[in-house]
Amino acid sequence: MKQVGILGAGPAGCACAYFLQETCSVTLIDASSPLRTILPTGGGRCNLAHAEYDFRELTKFYPRGEKFLLSVFSRFSTCDTLVFFETLGIKTYTQSDNRIFPISNSSKDVRDTFLNKLKGVKIKQEKGLQIESGEKIKLITDKNTYYFDTLVIAIGGHAGYEILKKSGIKIITPYPSLVGLTTQENLKSLAGVSVQNCVSNGEIGDILFTQKGISGPIIYKISSIKARDNSPYSLSIDLYPDNIDLQSLMNQNPHKQINNLLSELLPKRLTDYILTSLKLNTDTKCHLIKGRQRDEILNAIHNFTVTVTGTTPDGEVVTAGGVDLNEINPKTMESKKIKNLYFIGEVIDVDGFCGGFNLQNCWSTAFVAAQSINL
Ligand SMILES: Cc1cc2nc3c(=O)[nH]c(=O)nc-3n(C[C@H](O)[C@H](O)[C@H](O)COP(=O)(O)OP(=O)(O)OC[C@H]3O[C@@H](n4cnc5c(N)ncnc54)[C@H](O)[C@@H]3O)c2cc1C
Repeated sequence: MKQVGILGAGPAGCACAYFLQETCSVTLIDASSPLRTILPTGGGRCNLAHAEYDFRELTKFYPRGEKFLLSVFSRFSTCDTLVFFETLGIKTYTQSDNRIFPISNSSKDVRDTFLNKLKGVKIKQEKGLQIESGEKIKLITDKNTYYFDTLVIAIGGHAGYEILKKSGIKIITPYPSLVGLTTQENLKSLAGVSVQNCVSNGEIGDILFTQKGISGPIIYKISSIKARDNSPYSLSIDLYPDNIDLQSLMNQNPHKQINNLLSELLPKRLTDYILTSLKLNTDTKCHLIKGRQRDEILNAIHNFTVTVTGTTPDGEVVTAGGVDLNEINPKTMESKKIKNLYFIGEVIDVDGFCGGFNLQNCWSTAFVAAQSINL
C-alpha cells in the first residue's frame, strides 16, 4: 500500500484522508486536534458550500485562484460536495442566500461525524518541522521522522509558511482577507451602529461600525477585493443609496431639528457624527440649514469616505496568499518542482468570498489530489 502522509488535519487534510483511506496507508498529522478549525465556521453552523452548480460560475467567487480552479471544479464541484456530505451521513440544506449548511446547524456535529468516518486513518498530534525531497519524502516532526511515498501539505493559511520556504517552495506574500478594516478616522462614537444595504465599490451589503473602524458583510468582501492593495487607501460608502429629497423634507419640517429629521433615514449616532464632522450643530432647526450645508449633508451620506489603514482580525479571516499557483499542477495538485508533494486547501494562493467558497476549495482540491495519488 502506498504510504501517504498528510500534514494538517483541517477540512482539506481530513477530506483528503477520507478519500484515500481505503486505498492507501494514511497518516494524518496535526499540531493540534483534528478539525478544530471547522468549529468556528459559519458562526458555528459550518457554511460548507454555496449553491452555485455551474463550476465556471463558481470560480468567479474567488478573487485569487479563479483560473486555477476551473480545472479543479470541473472535477469536483458543489454537487459533488453534497454527495460527499451525504456519504459522510451529514444532511444539508440551502439557505435563501444560497449558503449551504448541515441540517444540524452545528460545526461540532460535522466535526464529530466526519472524524468518525476516518477509522482507517492513523492520526498523530505532532508538529511538522521540516520536509526533505528524495525517493521517499522525509517529514521531520517534533516527535518523529517519517518517510512517505507521498506527502500532502494541508497546513492552511494561518500557521506561517516557514516549513515550506525552507524547502524552496515559493510563497506569495500572505495578507488577511474577509476581515474588518481599521480607519484613520476615529469612529469609536459609532461602535455598534449598523447600516443595512450600503453600496461601496460596486458591492451592496450591511456595514457595522466597530471600536477600530468598519466591519460587516460588505466590508469583508471589500477587504477581499483589496487584500493586496497597499494601505492607506480611501473608501467611499453610500450609506443611503436611495435618492433623498432633503430640501422637501426640510421644507415639510421647518421647525424640526436636523438631527431628528436625518435620524428617520439613518441611525442617530451616525447622523450626529456626520453633522458634527461638517461642523454643524446637531440641533439646528431645518429652516436654518443653508443650501450649501444641505448639499454637504447629502454628500456625506452618499459619499461617506474613510481612509483605510489596515485590517482587524474579525470575520472569516482567510489568507490571500500562500503557495504560488504557478508551482502546482491544477490537474493533480502536485508540486511541479518536488515529485510526490501535494498542496491542498487554504495553504495555496486561493481564497474566496464569504459564503462557503473557502471550504469548497478544501473539498475540491483534496479530491483532485486524492484522485491523482490513487492513480
Ligand atoms: C471564524 C472563521 C469562520 C469561517 N467560516 C467559514 C465558512 O462558514 N465557510 C467557509 O467556506 N469558510 C469559512 N472559513 C474559512 C475556512 O475555515 C478555511 O478556509 C478552512 O478551514 C481552511 O482549511 P484547511 O484545511 O486548508 O486549513 P486549516 O483549517 O487552517 O487547517 C490547517 C491545519 O494544519 C495544522 N497545522 C498547521 N501547521 C502545522 C504544522 N507545521 N504541523 C502540523 N500541523 C500543522 C493546523 O493545526 C490546522 O489544524 C472561516 C474561517 C474562520 C477563521
